[in-house]
Amino acid sequence: MKSKSVCASVMLSLLLFCAGLVGAQTVREDAEVRPGNGPDWRPTGKGWGDPSQSRGRAKVGGAPTNNNGIYYHGGPLILGTTNVYYIWYGNWQGNTATSILTDFASNIGGSPYFNINTTYYNGSSTHVSNSVHYAGNTSDNYSQGKNLSDAGVQTVVSNAINNLGLPLDSNAVYFVLTSSDVNETSGFCTQYCGWHTYGTISGANIKYSFVGNPDRCPSACEAQSSSSPNSNPGADGMASIIAHELEEAVTDPNLNAWFDRRGFENADKCAWTFGTTSTASNGSKYNMTLGSRHYLIQRNWVNASGGSCALKY
Ligand SMILES: [Zn+2]
Repeated sequence: MKSKSVCASVMLSLLLFCAGLVGAQTVREDAEVRPGNGPDWRPTGKGWGDPSQSRGRAKVGGAPTNNNGIYYHGGPLILGTTNVYYIWYGNWQGNTATSILTDFASNIGGSPYFNINTTYYNGSSTHVSNSVHYAGNTSDNYSQGKNLSDAGVQTVVSNAINNLGLPLDSNAVYFVLTSSDVNETSGFCTQYCGWHTYGTISGANIKYSFVGNPDRCPSACEAQSSSSPNSNPGADGMASIIAHELEEAVTDPNLNAWFDRRGFENADKCAWTFGTTSTASNGSKYNMTLGSRHYLIQRNWVNASGGSCALKY
């Protein structure tokens, strides 16, 4: 997902409503930026589309694709229970993030929020399940150093599977969660706050995501930096980014399933928008409670009734 600052520059240069930065306006589908009548731009997984990699839409069940502002392009989705694995990269000693984010992954499945993803389906009209299983974690003590490339992130995932005990699981999303002293050199904090993609690892199609600790760049990647629902702005910022990447990975795991004309995946269409919020006892904002914790999580695109950003379905 794009950083807030990139969101700002996109807004200025393209006159696109960049949601979240300016309040409650939703991203306008098919607004000023659109690739004409040609095929849809393909997502990069980082929050923007690539015009050089366009994709035609697929028909579902013989009927024309619907018009909820997001379209199916024929690729697979993650169906049934989605497994989530965490790879704690770098130094997470003494950081409450490990509890906050483990609780988040353990409770997002079955929530009204994740239920939004059940509005997405494949070419056989099989819908995404509101089922997420937190399936395990491991730690990586800077095996690729403090400056990770995109390829280095995949190496971290590969090592976690081959050497650090995580199973090889193609119905899963592996999250590489980096401590705040680690950079991702393709654009963490300047172009994006997290991303998702896929790769072949040990012969399997493996979906994975990079999410850095936004304590590295609070103004770009934290929704609130002075206080947060779990008194850890970095971890609370990561929860929102993990939610974004997870729902995109489930509905567009291979970057060829659900996205709009500009290559925006479901969560991209609602990035940095939070809907109605409440105030926690420490003064921070939150918009949902999962398990025993409050979180401030960005909205997601509902693929029904014309389409809209929402916190629940
Ligand atoms: Zn995204």
